[in-house]
Amino acid sequence: MTENSYDYLIVGAGIVGLTVAHELKTRFPSAKIGVMDKEANSGLHASGRNSGVLHSGIYYSSDTLKAKVCAVGAKRMTAFAQEHGIPCSKSGKVIIATSEKDLPTVERLLRNADDNGIRAWRIDEKELHEIEPYAVPGLAAIYSPDTAVIDSRAVINRLTALLEQQGVQFLWRHGFRELRRSGEVVTDQGKLSFGYLFNCAGAYADVVAKSFGLAGDYALVPFKGIYWKLRPEAEHLVRANIYPVPDIELPFLGVHLTRVISGDVYVGPTAIPALGRENYGLIQGIRPREAIDVGYRLARMYLGNRYNFRRMAHLELAKYMKHNFVLAAQRLLPSITSEDMIPTPKAGIRPQLVNLREGKLEMDYIFQHTDHSTHVLNAISPAFTSSFAFAEMIVNSSNVV
Ligand SMILES: Cc1cc2nc3c(=O)[nH]c(=O)nc-3n(C[C@H](O)[C@H](O)[C@H](O)COP(=O)(O)OP(=O)(O)OC[C@H]3O[C@@H](n4cnc5c(N)ncnc54)[C@H](O)[C@@H]3O)c2cc1C
Repeated sequence: MTENSYDYLIVGAGIVGLTVAHELKTRFPSAKIGVMDKEANSGLHASGRNSGVLHSGIYYSSDTLKAKVCAVGAKRMTAFAQEHGIPCSKSGKVIIATSEKDLPTVERLLRNADDNGIRAWRIDEKELHEIEPYAVPGLAAIYSPDTAVIDSRAVINRLTALLEQQGVQFLWRHGFRELRRSGEVVTDQGKLSFGYLFNCAGAYADVVAKSFGLAGDYALVPFKGIYWKLRPEAEHLVRANIYPVPDIELPFLGVHLTRVISGDVYVGPTAIPALGRENYGLIQGIRPREAIDVGYRLARMYLGNRYNFRRMAHLELAKYMKHNFVLAAQRLLPSITSEDMIPTPKAGIRPQLVNLREGKLEMDYIFQHTDHSTHVLNAISPAFTSSFAFAEMIVNSSNVV
């Protein structure tokens, strides 16, 4: 085997690529494994920019891939954190219904919990007050005791170091350009050959897959998640995690309040349609050609108005204005004021897979394969929570023997 050839080559050093490398190293200790990334370090995109919540799995009906890997993935992530001294706390979460239309979803979430064997139950106003004294009483509420918060950055750093120790080679600044021929890719720094390739390129997974003749019916569309933070004097208003009841037709959970592992309290994230797959600032990360393509997709979704997309886009874009963000937070925490919320640079992009043929947002994980490659096309939330179990599922689904 030459220097530039690998038994297994992984594109993307986010949590999905890292856990796939970990899974492969566990199964095939002597295999030569390479992880290539266009950046100079791991976890610089979604995996290092998320809310750091380990979800319980209550949102997903039992027939989904998400349900199959979320709770078990959270357990494995917690075990990894314990083994490696990574801060992680099972702080629990309340989900509060603030309008009549949320009530059927409350029932559905409790059914999901039942079906998926997850601990969660309805709580009354008094119990809610004991758990989160400043939260709105709402019309109904659920308590999920197993929701946890974790230091995502520490997970990424530890896993990267561990894989390096185990002999996995990281190829930094190796952006994927194209598949040259079977078993050979062109990168920003020359050619690499592989026996089997795993495409875990997050927001660019569709672009990589298209080079393999796959993902013809799909495109990833970016949604921007921005956050505000509570000033230290207001942090006591939130003990752990306060979430709204989500619109289960959409893959986003709504603006929530999370006391992260450092003790800071974040409010967010939004799901604002963005003009670039790495458009973290107002204009930062917008590339003209990509913006035209993404703008076209968003315009079609807006005009088609499936899932009430137009209303969602208006509501989300309005959150660029602090006033509207404060109103969203006040639905859960009435006593919060505009002065309590301070700006933070924390922002992430959720790349959402759109099925172009059916004109719908894909809600579950999707894999596609060739004989020598597997492509992870929709690694949306809770892919961080799920990652260790998700990686096992990805490798099981592949043509790796
Ligand atoms: C704001 C926000 C909040 C979230 N909150 C949570 C949460 O609380 N809990 C949870 O479980 N999940 C959460 N998620 C979702 C979770 O973070 C993602 O599902 C997960 O991180 C996806 O991991 P990934 O490895 O697929 O993608 P990424 O972390 O984006 O990694 C993809 C990697 O591929 C690389 N890459 C891309 N293109 C190329 C190329 N052409 N060549 C080489 N490399 C390339 C990138 O540089 C990157 O390193 C959140 C996401 C966001 C954005």
